[in-house]
Amino acid sequence: MKNLRDLYLSEIEEELVNMGEKKYRAKQIFAWLYRGVDSFDEMTDLSKDLIQKLKENYEIKCLEVAKFQKSKDGTIKYLMELKDGNAVESVLMKYKYGNTACLSNQIGCKMGCNFCASAKIGFVRNLTPGEIISQILEIEKHSGEKISNIVFMGIGEPLDNYDNVMKAIRLINDPKGLNIGARHISISTCGLVPNIIRLADENMQCNLCISLHSSKDDVRSSMMPINNRYSIAEVMEACKEYIQKTNRRITFEYALVDGVNDSLADADHLAKLLRGMLCHVNLIPINKIKGGNYEKSSTEKILAFRDYLNDKGIVATVRRELGSDIDAACGQLVRSQK
Ligand code: SF4
Repeated sequence: MKNLRDLYLSEIEEELVNMGEKKYRAKQIFAWLYRGVDSFDEMTDLSKDLIQKLKENYEIKCLEVAKFQKSKDGTIKYLMELKDGNAVESVLMKYKYGNTACLSNQIGCKMGCNFCASAKIGFVRNLTPGEIISQILEIEKHSGEKISNIVFMGIGEPLDNYDNVMKAIRLINDPKGLNIGARHISISTCGLVPNIIRLADENMQCNLCISLHSSKDDVRSSMMPINNRYSIAEVMEACKEYIQKTNRRITFEYALVDGVNDSLADADHLAKLLRGMLCHVNLIPINKIKGGNYEKSSTEKILAFRDYLNDKGIVATVRRELGSDIDAACGQLVRSQK
C-alpha cells in the first residue's frame, strides 16, 4: 500500500484524480498529513466515502516512538519503531536559536567509519521519504516542541540514500508541508564525491557538512574507509565545485582524537588544505562508543587546535556536546535493542 507521506502534493492530486475525486481534496489531505495526523478518520473535512476509499488504498503512519531517553541537558533520544519491525534513532536537541531534530535516513550504514556506532550494525535498507519526515512529526507530537532546524546526522549516509533524502527535504521545505527553510536544513556526508556534485546542481539552499576528520589520506583512510574510494584531493575538488556553483559555505567536521589527528602540525596541515575556501570548521570532541579504540582529546588540545586554525584565518568553533550521557551525541546512534 502506498504511504501518502512519501508523496508530493502534485502526486497526491494525481492519485485523487485517478480515483475520480476532485483535485482540490489533495490540498486538504496534504495539510492534515503535516499537522501530524496518523489516521484518515481525523481528517474531519473529508466525506465518509472519501475517507473509506483512502483507507482502502493508502496508509499514513510509518513509525512510532517505542522508547525515549532524556539527557541532563534536555536532549531527548528516541527509538523509533518502523512498520517492518526495524528501528532507528532520532534526537531532539534544544539550542538558544531553536529546536533541532537529528534524523536517521538509513537502517544501518554501509560506510564503516570506525568511530561510529551506526557503522557497527551493518546496512539493512534505506528509509523512505515518509519515514524520514515522520521522525520530525513524531518528535513534535511526543515532546510538544516545534522543530525549526533539521540535521541529517543520525544513522546512515544521506548522499547514499540520495533520492529519498532529496524528496524528504523538498517536503520538509514545502510551505504547505513542514515549511522549514532549506537554510535550516544540514546534510552531513562522509564525502561521496559524485553526489556532492549532484547536490550542487539541485538549486537547494541547505547546508552541506563534510566529515573530514583528517587532512592526511593515510590517517583519514584509517578512520573512514570511504577515503580509499574518494581521496581528500577529490573531495576538495568536489567541494570547490559545490561552492562555486552555490556560493554557499561548507562546514568541515573534524572529530578530534587523542594522538591521531589533534596536534598543532595537524592543525597546520588542515589550515593549508582549506586556505582560501568559503568554509567553517566544526571541531567535535569525539564521543566514546562501545568497543571503540579512540580517546577524546584534552580540552587544552582542542582549544589550541581551534586557536591555531583561527590564527591562520580559518573560522573554527568547538561543537557543544549534547546528549553524550545518553549516547545521543555525534557518532553514538545505533539501532538500539528494545
Ligand atoms: S559516520 Fe555517518 S557515514 Fe560514517 S558510518 Fe557513521 S553513519 Fe555512516
